[in-house]
Amino acid sequence: MTEILSDIDIAKANTMHPIKTIGEKIGLTEDQLEFYGKYKAKLSALELEKLQNQPDGKLILVTAITPTPAGEGKTTTSVGLADGLNRLNEKVVLALREPSLGPVFGVKGGAAGGGYAQVVPMEDINLHFTGDFHAIGVAHNLLSAMLDNHIHHGNELGIDSRRITWKRVVDMNDRQLRYIVDGLNGKINGVPREDGFDITVASEIMAILCLANSLADLKQKLSQIIVGYTYDGRPVTAKDLKAADAMAVLLKDAINPNLVQTLEHTPALVHGGPFANIAHGCNSILATKLALKYADYTVTEAGFGADLGAEKFLDIKCRLGGLKPDAVVLVATIRALKMHGGVNKKELGTENVEAVLNGLPNLEKHLDNLQNVYGLPVVVAINKFPTDTEAELAAVQSACEARGVEVSLSEVWEKGGQGGVDLAKKVMALADQSSELSYAYDLTDSIETKIEKVVTKVYGGQGIKLTPKVKREIRELEALGFGDLPICMAKTQYSFSDDASLLGAPSGFDVSIQQVKVSAGAGFIVILTGAVMTMPGLPKVPAAERITISDDGQIDGLF
Ligand code: ADP
Ligand code: MG
Repeated sequence: MTEILSDIDIAKANTMHPIKTIGEKIGLTEDQLEFYGKYKAKLSALELEKLQNQPDGKLILVTAITPTPAGEGKTTTSVGLADGLNRLNEKVVLALREPSLGPVFGVKGGAAGGGYAQVVPMEDINLHFTGDFHAIGVAHNLLSAMLDNHIHHGNELGIDSRRITWKRVVDMNDRQLRYIVDGLNGKINGVPREDGFDITVASEIMAILCLANSLADLKQKLSQIIVGYTYDGRPVTAKDLKAADAMAVLLKDAINPNLVQTLEHTPALVHGGPFANIAHGCNSILATKLALKYADYTVTEAGFGADLGAEKFLDIKCRLGGLKPDAVVLVATIRALKMHGGVNKKELGTENVEAVLNGLPNLEKHLDNLQNVYGLPVVVAINKFPTDTEAELAAVQSACEARGVEVSLSEVWEKGGQGGVDLAKKVMALADQSSELSYAYDLTDSIETKIEKVVTKVYGGQGIKLTPKVKREIRELEALGFGDLPICMAKTQYSFSDDASLLGAPSGFDVSIQQVKVSAGAGFIVILTGAVMTMPGLPKVPAAERITISDDGQIDGLF
């Protein structure tokens, strides 16, 4: 193998095409693009209405087996698959999430793919991009300001300031702001209360923006946001505070999907980036729907492993957006299989075919879910790493073949689209099969039944454990009329169970539910199986310390 360059070096060495040319590939005229410089543009979400009667292209979902903390390459594979389809002269659009600033300066680094399968301009995509997150943060904080202002000016609605659920947001890992007391220093400076900040991507408005089917739907969803409760226990909404329209005004550009390109000039819509635990973790419905109108193939990614990402993509996003994938790519890596086969983190780089085989039950459980719970055609993509050996790769390939499932060795990280042509061909063949999407639960099931169905069918668990507190929360939500919403599971991504140390395909476990709450605007009920950090902190040595800019403006350290 030749010298390994960093992601940012590869991206810098690449020459982008003007975004106008990228738009032309999918039939977009200059009039249909709102330019943000030479290499970024927004498409109008309002176009969707006009395109209503046009047929949709095929939708390809990229998901993964239970990951290691390093990530298994879903974004990388999505980019490479789209480039592979592009090399086959197919009309393809990639639809991905926007990265949050927090992880960029914290530990994870960029989130725009890797190696020769990236979306560019990666610096912009990882930094302020087109300002969508800023707009979401400001819309969120407008509601916070209007809420406290209402209380300050007499609190006509009778809002109980001890039961306010709407925090403030900022797009930064800043643990100092998790819990604060504000409104201090006397009568003219507000009403003192306990408050706190979340990171912007954790805002319910992010989930709303990503689940909205139109501007009208966005306004409706914003108006339904619950900010807290009155002294007599009634929910207080953004509509009660007369905030929804002003919030929608702030989001007027953010609602429009962003067009960029891959290293190989495949059009990519990068739009919205909700959390994958307390929210559903995929790019906006509007970006996906526009992509389906403009291209014959839309490749999209769902966050975390398939038990969380694909489950929510299918049970929440597809259901609320009327979408259905035509084929699913299940990304697997040798290192993750070895980890599931019992190898500890430090030895993942050493050949161990037996451990790979021992890790296969994890892959098989995900496959079984996608094929038999959801009824979708699946191809396994082995995302090849430089450390993988021939024997390890062959072991996975023959296990898949023995099971009668399509498998492809994806070398997109090392070779770009050329390394994804085989995968692209297999995906095209699968997407031509007819399939019927089934959901893991029905919306009319009780909240408890919905949770039980996800745990037993998708996770392979035995049942659920509800504390009296959780049972009361469920009763209250059903009494308030939220019983028919889909559920959004917040669980560790490192195990099928709620215990991160249970690797492979565990069985016989119960999942303990800690809290149940509604995101009434987004339109789902969040089921928390443990504490979820909605305002991360920076590590002892944050990535920010390595990020530099030279005197002539060259950025380094965003990997
Ligand atoms: P995910 O979307 O599943 O979180 P990413 O595609 O973002 O995963 O990849 C996670 C990290 O792993 C990135 O830094 C990426 O550059 C790296 N990576 C992905 N695939 C490979 C590969 N085949 N070889 C080496 N590094 C890879
Ligand atoms: Mg990703």
